[in-house]
Amino acid sequence: MSPILETVSEFATEPDFLICLCRTSDDPRQGLTQILIDRQEHGYEVREIHKIALNSQSTAQIFLDEVRVPVANTIGGEGGALKRTLAHFEKSRAFVAMQSVGLARRALEEAVGYASERRQHGKVIAGHQLIAAMLAEMATRVDAARLLVHRAAEMFDAGLGAEMEAAMAKYFACEAAVAIARKSVQIHGGNGVTRDFLVEKLAREAIVCPIPEGTTQIQQLIIARALTGVAAF
Ligand SMILES: Cc1cc2nc3c(=O)[nH]c(=O)nc-3n(C[C@H](O)[C@H](O)[C@H](O)COP(=O)(O)OP(=O)(O)OC[C@H]3O[C@@H](n4cnc5c(N)ncnc54)[C@H](O)[C@@H]3O)c2cc1C
Repeated sequence: MSPILETVSEFATEPDFLICLCRTSDDPRQGLTQILIDRQEHGYEVREIHKIALNSQSTAQIFLDEVRVPVANTIGGEGGALKRTLAHFEKSRAFVAMQSVGLARRALEEAVGYASERRQHGKVIAGHQLIAAMLAEMATRVDAARLLVHRAAEMFDAGLGAEMEAAMAKYFACEAAVAIARKSVQIHGGNGVTRDFLVEKLAREAIVCPIPEGTTQIQQLIIARALTGVAAF
């Protein structure tokens, strides 16, 4: 068996240490432990992963080859990491959802601006009903996504669990961002696929959103489990 443990991490190329989520026993609930690894003391290899978008943060593979650390580097006690990780996911999902809302809002603003200026068949394209319908749908989805994220955030502020609500926010907002960015490109016509217009970049950024912190399908499974009590994973 290879002694190399491979993992994926955000911002991995920069920091001096990492918190590695390790399997320390087969117990399904208490088998994960967080271990602090200092890069200078216990060197590990970092390889950047090149992505189509979301390049404001680096994503990298980390290779741990025969890395040994003292027991004192264990964080929060052996076997206690799953609960903390799941609690973290609730908030990080709402965070990705909010990123998606921002992205979708900008895509809508770009579409409104372009549709109000671009003229075809004797009038601005905003005056064509099929374009108007697209704008109305986009704006409604942006608002619905924003309200779902706010609900989850308010529940966090009130100290309540929001597993299902955070999953709904991530599911809806990320898919909305993809759909809205795509429509914004469509409203820009041929210009929309050129690098001269921002919407091309927004479409690439949006397509990443439904993947990290649990894919859309995983959010759907979490929501359905909350409704029925039956896990369909
Ligand atoms: C920008 C970015 C940053 C990331 N950062 C990190 C990080 O910091 N740390 C880290 O560990 N990982 C990170 N990841 C990895 C990310 O968590 C995974 O890519 C994601 O969880 C999906 O897992 P996967 O790629 O193995 O896809 P798979 O699990 O192989 O899924 C492939 C497809 O099958 C579907 N699928 C899988 N299981 C089921 C099921 N039971 N029922 C129905 N459909 C299913 C998925 O929804 C998807 O459509 C990052 C990924 C990206 C894109």
